[in-house]
Amino acid sequence: MKLSGLDIFKYLPGAKKSLHTNCKECGCPTCMAFAIKLAQKQITYDRCKYMSEELKTLCKKNIKSPQKIVKIDGLKIGGENVLYRHEKKFINKTVLAVIVNCKTPDYKEKLKRIENFEINRVNEKMKIDLVILRNKEKHQPENLCDETVYIEEKDFLKLSIKKIEDTNFKKTVEKLVKTRTKAIIDHNEKYCDPVYVYLKSTTNKYNLCARASYYLCKYANMLVFEDFDENLFTTLMILRQNIYTDPQKPLQVEPKIYEFNNPDENSLIFITTNFALTFFAVANELENLKIPSYLVVIPACGMSVLTAFSAEKFTAKTVVKTLKKFDLLNKVKTRKIIIPGLLAHMKDDLEKSLPEFEIIVGTVEAYSIGEFVKKLI
Ligand code: SF4
Repeated sequence: MKLSGLDIFKYLPGAKKSLHTNCKECGCPTCMAFAIKLAQKQITYDRCKYMSEELKTLCKKNIKSPQKIVKIDGLKIGGENVLYRHEKKFINKTVLAVIVNCKTPDYKEKLKRIENFEINRVNEKMKIDLVILRNKEKHQPENLCDETVYIEEKDFLKLSIKKIEDTNFKKTVEKLVKTRTKAIIDHNEKYCDPVYVYLKSTTNKYNLCARASYYLCKYANMLVFEDFDENLFTTLMILRQNIYTDPQKPLQVEPKIYEFNNPDENSLIFITTNFALTFFAVANELENLKIPSYLVVIPACGMSVLTAFSAEKFTAKTVVKTLKKFDLLNKVKTRKIIIPGLLAHMKDDLEKSLPEFEIIVGTVEAYSIGEFVKKLI
């Protein structure tokens, strides 16, 4: 049973108006504040020394992960604690697995394609997580890729992972939702094994991608595909990467001056935020340009350009402060600074703050930087 703030509060001194009511020893201003934090798993129950034994028992039961974790070598499947990512975070990424039938004539070619498949996004390298070898003979095939786990199908089928057949989209979703809800909300032992959806071979790749994307969001711990399709897996991995970030910690990079292609005192200066998605989009373009440049990354709490501006984290003042902190302006002869196209309205303020510099409004999208720079130099 999931405990709400009110459920918890009933067992605390605050509800009974007894000694220690709102004593603040737990670090919260009131017992109610503590109860709400505990329900949201933002604090541990042992911070209050005065709660009833009954509540302690309930909390201990609640701490236990409602879903079991199954391990295959380094891969962890299951172990989720929440229904919604914003409640805390999802823990173990949905494993993406491919069946390889070693009795088919093209199985080696399929294995090679899986081995060669790789995505790099937001500083994360992604490969196929798991290959399930069907009908494998002893002499067949060796493990090809260190970053992928290989398992024979007969061993895979012995694992405590419940199979959900993808026969009908609506029914599959209902089963997935029911299983996760029973495990998380009711702590029902019958539903605590992680689940996988088995997706049969099909020529309708759009439909396959749509169904798999939905199952990834709600609530497959693993997706097993008969087909291997690079476009499909690229889409799913990007979706998965977005879902499995910690919503309480924005993806961010260190604010500092990044150098591309050995810049010198005459190189271009670009400015952006420390939101990881924006940073890597800009950084990839600058790297591929093969033109020496500096990228000044502003400390903006991991917010995107416009959000950071709205929150007053990316202003003319913060730009000047960052440039001074890293002493870039004394190191360069160049007198041009390129700001994000979305912050065109900041140009006047920056020119007033940095009168010796020409402030150039850059592109709105990172992919246009190449064309923009060609016209500039
Ligand atoms: Fe209430 Fe316990 Fe916190 Fe004191 S320590 S304020 S009794 S929850």
